[in-house]
Amino acid sequence: MSAGNAAPLGPDATIGILGGGQLGRMLALAAARLGLKCHVLSPDPQSPAFDVVHRVTNADYTDTQALDRFAADVDVVTYEFENIPAETATFLSARKPVLPDPRVLATTQDRLVEKTFVAGLGIATARFVAIDAPGMMRQAVDVIGRPAVLKTRRFGYDGKGQVMLRDGVDPDAAWRAIGGQPAILEAFVPFEREISVVAVRSAAGQIECFDVTENEHRDHILKVSRAPADVTPEVAAAAFDIARRVAGAFDYVGVLAVEMFVVREHGGHAVLVNEIAPRVHNSGHWTLDGATVSQFEQHIRAVAGWPLARPLRLARVEMTNLIGAEVADYAKWLAAPGVSVHLYGKAAVRDGRKMGHVTRVIPEPERGGSS
Ligand code: AMP
Repeated sequence: MSAGNAAPLGPDATIGILGGGQLGRMLALAAARLGLKCHVLSPDPQSPAFDVVHRVTNADYTDTQALDRFAADVDVVTYEFENIPAETATFLSARKPVLPDPRVLATTQDRLVEKTFVAGLGIATARFVAIDAPGMMRQAVDVIGRPAVLKTRRFGYDGKGQVMLRDGVDPDAAWRAIGGQPAILEAFVPFEREISVVAVRSAAGQIECFDVTENEHRDHILKVSRAPADVTPEVAAAAFDIARRVAGAFDYVGVLAVEMFVVREHGGHAVLVNEIAPRVHNSGHWTLDGATVSQFEQHIRAVAGWPLARPLRLARVEMTNLIGAEVADYAKWLAAPGVSVHLYGKAAVRDGRKMGHVTRVIPEPERGGSS
């Protein structure tokens, strides 16, 4: 169904969310604050979002009977992760508006298509080549050079499906290590810092961005986000411009995040896009405690057709993920001054699993060099 010109939802409406992880949970909490109900569909019976919503459907994404009932119960459908099967989104969009438009998924689910799309907008990325067959690796390494990063085209997240090709690493062995599947080989970017812009776009084309955020990864998983990023006004302007152009090119409705590398170049800086996330994003979690409106509320407003907020950051903020066993420290964080604690209600603690996050609000007098 065409969604761009849909009427705004009434305050008693139900928003359908595909995916039941912490992002779905925080979306549902934001919707509840605005009086809206959520119905979450997820194949995982232990979904963190199930604990906080009006209605749940525990079914596979390919269960068309369950999808039919889900569609009949909701006014609009959105999603909290990008690996929703394309057929699911298409099936639902024949019944209810799906926002952001499922065509965005087709682009962002595949690194090659995504990078080609970004490059087609005239936006810089790391140099990349497609790898479709075993014989292509050696030539690709000749073209890209070393170090390089080999990434599966699909289903890669938090560093999964990636291998670094430093000197001495056998290209064919690297391809086998990622399962011998279609991939891209990307030049390693000697970045000065990693940043992201979390932006929201309404159906009418209004775009609002949160402050540029600086991200620190550990073992390929986001560990700390700081806002504002310690970047020059020129870098911030370039990052906002990229996020706006990407959102506009998709005719996007909802929140999206653009992850970028900042590199030193010719005495100045250049900004390269690494990845687009067509959803609320971990690097925007600080907005729950550090801004006048959160990324989750902005997304709900956009898909409901409600006016977007102009977000204001309240202080300097630092968000730290509680990963795996780190969640056991929650009582220490609860007692720490100026810290907000968010636990996702996940029973099973596993290495690398995001169990919660904490946000530290740093009063203005403590401010460092950035503004
Ligand atoms: P990705 O799954 O593409 O978001 O990659 C996860 C993390 O790996 C990034 O946030 C970077 O820290 C690192 N990384 C990915 N690609 C590159 C690259 N081409 N050059 C340098 N670091 C990279």
